[in-house]
This record gives sequence, C-alpha cells and structure tokens, in this order.
Amino acid sequence: MSEQAGSDRAEADSAETETTETATTETDSTETAAAETATTETDTSGEPVGGIVAAPSTTSDLLTYAPALESAAIVDIAPTYDLWIDGRWVAPSSGERFPTMNPATGETLSQVALASPQDVAAAVAAARAASEDWAARSGADRAKYMYRLARLVQDRARELAVLESLDGGKPIRESRDIDVPLVAAHLFHHAGWADKLDYAFPGRRWHPLGVVGQVIPWNFPLLMAAWKLGPALACGNTVVLKPAESTPLTALLLAQLVDEAGFPPGVVNVLTGAGETGAALVSHPDLDKVAFTGSTEVGRQIMRTLAPRATPMTLELGGKAANVVFEDAALDQAVEGVVNGIWFNQGHVCCAGSRLLVQESIVEPFVAKLQRRMATLRVGDPLDKNTDVGAINSEEQLGRIRELVQSGLDEGAELYEAPCPLPDRGWFLRPMMFTDVTPAMRIAREEIFGPVLSVLTFRTEDEAVAKANDTAYGLSAGVWTEKGSRILWMAERLRSGVVWANTFNQFDPTAPFGGFGDSGFGREGGIQGLRHYVRMEAA
Ligand code: NDP
Repeated sequence: MSEQAGSDRAEADSAETETTETATTETDSTETAAAETATTETDTSGEPVGGIVAAPSTTSDLLTYAPALESAAIVDIAPTYDLWIDGRWVAPSSGERFPTMNPATGETLSQVALASPQDVAAAVAAARAASEDWAARSGADRAKYMYRLARLVQDRARELAVLESLDGGKPIRESRDIDVPLVAAHLFHHAGWADKLDYAFPGRRWHPLGVVGQVIPWNFPLLMAAWKLGPALACGNTVVLKPAESTPLTALLLAQLVDEAGFPPGVVNVLTGAGETGAALVSHPDLDKVAFTGSTEVGRQIMRTLAPRATPMTLELGGKAANVVFEDAALDQAVEGVVNGIWFNQGHVCCAGSRLLVQESIVEPFVAKLQRRMATLRVGDPLDKNTDVGAINSEEQLGRIRELVQSGLDEGAELYEAPCPLPDRGWFLRPMMFTDVTPAMRIAREEIFGPVLSVLTFRTEDEAVAKANDTAYGLSAGVWTEKGSRILWMAERLRSGVVWANTFNQFDPTAPFGGFGDSGFGREGGIQGLRHYVRMEAA
C-alpha cells in the first residue's frame, strides 16, 4: 500500500476507533435504563405475543441527540445523466432514462440513461479500440493515471461520501470513514502494482486479458467500482462498468474523475441501466473477461451465458456468514463485533455476520447484552452523523427482507426488534434479532441482506464448525475467543474465503477477498486478485 493510502487507512482507523469509543460510552451510560425498560416490558408482557418480544419503549427515552446533519449542498446532482463511452458523455440510443431515488425520502434525485444493447456494443467497441494502446503502455504510465484518480477521490472525498449516502441510504459515518477511504486505498494499492507486475508473477510472462465487462451491486457502489477497476486497469485491461440500477450516481461521478485524471478515451466506460443492461453486457461476444458482484441467482445466469464461450469470469456472490462466539471471548468486544457484523450498512453486506453462533453456556447473558446494545442503535437520516443504521436501499429490497422476517415468525423463531423510532418517510427497518432459530429455518439458510440477525447455539468446537459450515455459501466467518490455538483450529476448518478473529468486516486492499460454493469464485484484492486480470505463459 502506498504511503498516502496508508495514512488514509490510519485516518479511517482512527475515525472507526473514535466511533467505537463513543458507542461504548453511550452503551455504558444507558445500559441500566435500557435494561430496566427491557425487563419491565418482558415482565408485563410475559410470553412473547405472536413471536415478537415487546421492545423497550423508544431510544429517544434513553438518549437524546440533536441532529448533526452533513450538508448535501456539496453535491451537484444533474437533472439527467448520459452514458460515459469512449471518453465522452453520450445520450442513450433509445432516449430512455430511469429515476434514481433517495431511499431515505423516496424522492427522485436524477434521471439516468438506460443503456440499450446498442450502447453496450458501442462501449465494448470503444474499450476494444483503446485496449492495444493501454496494454502497450508502461506500467508506470498506467500508474500515473491511476494515482491521479486516487488523489482526485481523496480531494472529492466529502462529495463522494455525501452522494453515496444520498443515493444508497448508507450512514454518512460509513461512507465518509469506510467506503471512500477504502476506494482511495484500493486505487492507490493497484496503481502501485501497475509497474511491479513482473514481481507479482515471478518467472512468468503475463499479458492483459483485453476488454473486461464488470457488473456491480448497490450495497457498496463506489467501493465495488474501485475493487473492479483497480486490478483491471493496473494489469493493462480496458473496462466497461455497469453500476446497479438503484445506485448509479457515484459511478457517474467517478467517470467525471476518470475524465479529469486524463485517462485515454475508451479505457474506462460506464453504462447505467437495469438488469437487462447487465445481461446485454455480459453476453457481448467481444469480452475477454467478466467480473460480477451480486446475487447467486444472477451469478448462475452469467455462468450459463459464458460457459459456451469459456470466457474467464470471477463471481463474488452472496453469503450467510457464521459469527462464532465462544464462552471465553471478551464478551463486550464480541457484542461490538456482532453489531458491526450485521448492522453495518443496514446488513446489505455479502459477508455480513448474519448467523450468530453462541456457545450455549453464555447464550442468555450474551443475548441480553446484545439487546441492551441494540436499544442504543439509532436508525434515521443517512446524512445525520449520529445515525447508526440508514435507509434500506430500495422498496423492493424492503419487501424481500420483510418476507424473510415473516417466514422466521411463521416458522416459530422469536423476534426482538430494537426499540428505536423510525423516520416517517423513506424505507427503513429497525435492527432485528431472531432467537430460537433452528438450522433448517429460512432465516438461518437464506441471505436476508438486511438488518436481521439469526441466533443459534452450539456446545463444542466440532458442533460450532459443523453448524457454521452448514450452508451453501462460504464467503466469510468470525471467531471470538481468547485462545489463539482455537482460532487457528477453527480457521482451518471453517469453509469460507475470509475468517476474521476477534474482529469482523475488516477490509484491506492487500488481502484477497472471495468465496466458495454459492458465494462464487475468484479473489479481489492482493496478488491473488491481480491474477484474474492477466493471461500467463511460461517465461
Ligand atoms: P442482482 O444480482 O440482481 O444485482 C447485481 C448487479 O447485477 C446489478 O448491477 C444488476 O443490475 C445486475 N444484473 C441484474 N440482472 C442481471 C443479469 N441477468 N445479467 C447481468 N447483470 C445483471 O442483485 P439484486 O440487486 O436484485 O439483489 C437481490 C439479492 O441479491 C439481494 O437481496 C441480496 O441477497 C443479493 N445481493 C448480493 C450482493 C452481494 O454483494 N453478494 C449484492 C447485491 C445483492 P440492476 O441493479 O440494474 O438490476
């Protein structure tokens, strides 16, 4: 990682630490009140009604905070956007546009171009035309543009963060302190590799693949763009990028920054559109590789499309991660890890720790601690710096989450909802936790992709491993214990691409990220991630 990226990360780390410290203090000062409220509610209600445990009244009884709103004035959202093809803004050939909304208000932010198959063909042709020149440049030359882009991301960090929160609904604290600093870090990291690829692949002769089609999701729109662009460009490939329908704005601002950084025309093309645009892109016959992040279902469709042509692909799909807490863990620290694991980004996280496995001996006190902590979480305006949990990304996603929550109730699990008030408009959900969950329930098996935690128990290490691995997915896992030997023992047996020990949701451009099974294949980040963007021959 470059020095600049390192200092960014340090800043982000210190911001995270500050946040954690604040949160801990708040928990301490309110724990008693929350516990009292919770106890009263449980006593008066007795058995949970309809599977839902009555929550303590409201967070506003526990904490009062004046809003600390980040101003939206820094962003300049155009009423309409075109497509970024061959270094120019091009109107969609069909003339069609679609609205992109602010999920916190339901208001339309802008009308964005809907790319047709003809636009896809134009973008792929532009990327093909630019490919030979870009590949022939020295690594240092390619790095020059990438460093410029990374610095522009830093210069415009606040604007990017606000835009990301407006268009996607994530809390400004996260887009400001996590997403955007990581975007810069990924671009710096991969810029650093551009002239050192001979060292990444010693004894091998490597070649760029050519033109890469990249389709990204709505949960980390700008970060996924950086994860995809960084290794592709460093390795000498040209790119056609398709952001998600509900979150196109930061990718379009990134295209403006690509322009400002002076990239040659056609090296980066950005096509907005819906699923059909993504399908048209991945099925274009002139692609040399496809990189996709999104649902397992669409990942399977892409595999079927590409199989006859044997086009190389990497798929980063869903997850149902186990976060395993042993009785010897530092429990307060583990509570924070669970909170970060499932309520970070409203639970719209492929590697979210959505299955909490707690050792049976501590399940009651641990769940009680979690409930107390949940009572301090604030759901609200994504631009409010006090907000812990922002808006659900779309009305459609809200419906999917509600349907799965209902299945949990129908199958007999017990639901605890954080007692916080919800804004009176926009798409929001309270943080939720299901107990009495059995491994066969849908809420224990399917990716909910929302702020919903399912709690299961285990007695022994073997049982913890068996339950953690009892999933078709295999993206990430967490282990909480004071024993280093147990961490290593578990990490060897957990079938997941990433295992975090006494932490969760830590990302770094030097570390490969990716999954097994229904979580897809291929790695992003580190040398392993570069490997997917080159063709090798023996030196
Ligand atoms: P999708 O997989 O449909 O979307 C991901 C990206 O693929 C978007 O850019 C989407 O475009 C595009 N796309 C959609 N259909 C196709 C296609 N046939 N060919 C190529 N690209 C396509 O996810 P959803 O947004 O529908 O979310 C559904 C579920 O997927 C969520 O509930 C969650 O469980 C999971 N998911 C997982 C993610 C992860 O990181 N693992 C990320 C997002 C979702 P568009 O948005 O325009 O439709």
